[in-house]
Amino acid sequence: MNHPARFPKPCRYNGRQYVKKHKIEINLEVYDSVSELPQDIQKLMNKAQQAREDAYAPYSRFKVGAALQLDSGETIIGNNQENAAFPSGLCAERVAIYQAGAAYPTASVKTMAITARSLKQETTTPIPPCGACRQAIAEYEIKQESPIAIYFMGETGKVAKAASIADLLPLLFDKSYL
Ligand SMILES: [Zn+2]
Repeated sequence: MNHPARFPKPCRYNGRQYVKKHKIEINLEVYDSVSELPQDIQKLMNKAQQAREDAYAPYSRFKVGAALQLDSGETIIGNNQENAAFPSGLCAERVAIYQAGAAYPTASVKTMAITARSLKQETTTPIPPCGACRQAIAEYEIKQESPIAIYFMGETGKVAKAASIADLLPLLFDKSYL
C-alpha cells in the first residue's frame, strides 16, 4: 500500500538544487455538533462517551473515551487508564485499538470515535489523539491496508473527522524504513 503519509520516493535532488520544498496538505471535515453526524457515527460516538465516563483518570482528571467500529460488526471500546507511575498508564485510543487487535486480529477497523471531558473545565473543542496514539493507529491502518476514519470531539461542540491517519500524522514512520 502506497500510504499517503509516506515520504514520496524516490527523492531526487538534481544538480545544484540542494533544497527542495515539499508541501503536505491535510484535510479535515468539521461538523457543528454530534447531531450533524451520520446516524451510525452518532451511535459510535455515544459508545465512546459512555466509555469515557468509566475512564480511570484520577491524576489528569481528563477522561477520554474511544469506540471502534470493526468491519466484522463488533464495536470495541477503550478509555484512559492512568497509573501513579505516570508512564505506565495508557490512552483510550491505544487501549481500544490493542483490544481490537487482540480479540479480532483478522478484522479491520473502519472507524474510530474519540471524546474527551475534563473534570476541571468544559472541553468544547475537538481533542485529537496524542502523537503516540497516532503512531499506533497508523500501524493498524497500514496492516489492514484500508483507511481508518477518525472522528474526535471534546465534551460538547464541534466534531472533526480525518478520513485517514494520514491526515493526522504526515511523514509517519513505518515498516518501509526498516
Ligand atoms: Zn494517546
